[in-house]
Amino acid sequence: MSKRRDFLKGLTAFSLAPGLPTSAAADTTDKAEIAITYDLEMSRHYPKRSNIEWDYQKGNLDQDTKNYSVAAAKIAADNGVHLHFFLVGRVLEQDDISWLHQIHEMGHVIGNHTYDHVNLLATTPSQTQFRFSRSPWLVKDKTVLEILRENIRLTEIALKQRAGINQIGFRTPGGFSNALTDRPDLQDLLLDLGFSWVSSKYPRHLATRGPQGVAQATFDNIVESQTDAQPFRYKSGLLEIPMSPISDVNAFRSNFWTLDEFTKAITYSIKAVIKEKQVYDFICHPSCMLVEDPQHKTLRTIIKLVKSNPDSARISTLDEIAQRFT
Ligand SMILES: [Zn+2]
Repeated sequence: MSKRRDFLKGLTAFSLAPGLPTSAAADTTDKAEIAITYDLEMSRHYPKRSNIEWDYQKGNLDQDTKNYSVAAAKIAADNGVHLHFFLVGRVLEQDDISWLHQIHEMGHVIGNHTYDHVNLLATTPSQTQFRFSRSPWLVKDKTVLEILRENIRLTEIALKQRAGINQIGFRTPGGFSNALTDRPDLQDLLLDLGFSWVSSKYPRHLATRGPQGVAQATFDNIVESQTDAQPFRYKSGLLEIPMSPISDVNAFRSNFWTLDEFTKAITYSIKAVIKEKQVYDFICHPSCMLVEDPQHKTLRTIIKLVKSNPDSARISTLDEIAQRFT
């Protein structure tokens, strides 16, 4: 990994002349960069529809979710690929975190996904999380910004103290089509908490499925949305690395896609991104994927696709992608 980092650093120094707009960096590198990310949290309606108790206990990972995460990590490691996980901190209250150590020891990186899966765009304390609307005393007399700061900071502390792991990056719970563009206060909060990049944007795109399945126009629209999912820098200096459509929960949970349709959309999108030498940030959730993709077909498809284009694409963590913009 360090060799690759050094290479990227050299590349950045070479390809980004002073004065160039920092937002235009994505097309100045030699290869497309594909990140594979897993958000470690429980997802409503999984493993069974109508299960929404997870909304209150996002970090209470069940054994199947942990097993699936370790299995994905092994498949990736066997292929020499590093995954980027984002962890809801409350899972660190569980008795056994050996699964997380296994993932980390394989070389995969783990980022901060807040302690309780709080909504950064909430306007009232109870809106920050279902848990706090049910149990408002937990956030009594706190402002939204204080709740967010504490929820992010606690995750960093718990990861370090309980697991001995240094957090790598931050992903917002939920994705925002306008990213954090209108929220310089949140950008400043993240910078103040030590982050140089955030993954918060999820561009708008078509996703509905008709009786005949997913229409070609929907696949085409998802491919087009990749140009809207490229990294950019906010005026504050914080770097944004958007999530790339389509996410597993959007496809499977909200729109009842099949696995074949999902891998087709991902394949189309990654092929387009490779052609343009852009960035692709695949986002999924083990708690959803273990039901929808038990054999890890999507992960294997992405790895195969990138490995069959060794001269024009590579798999990177989000942190490695961020390096090219520094
Ligand atoms: Zn999440």
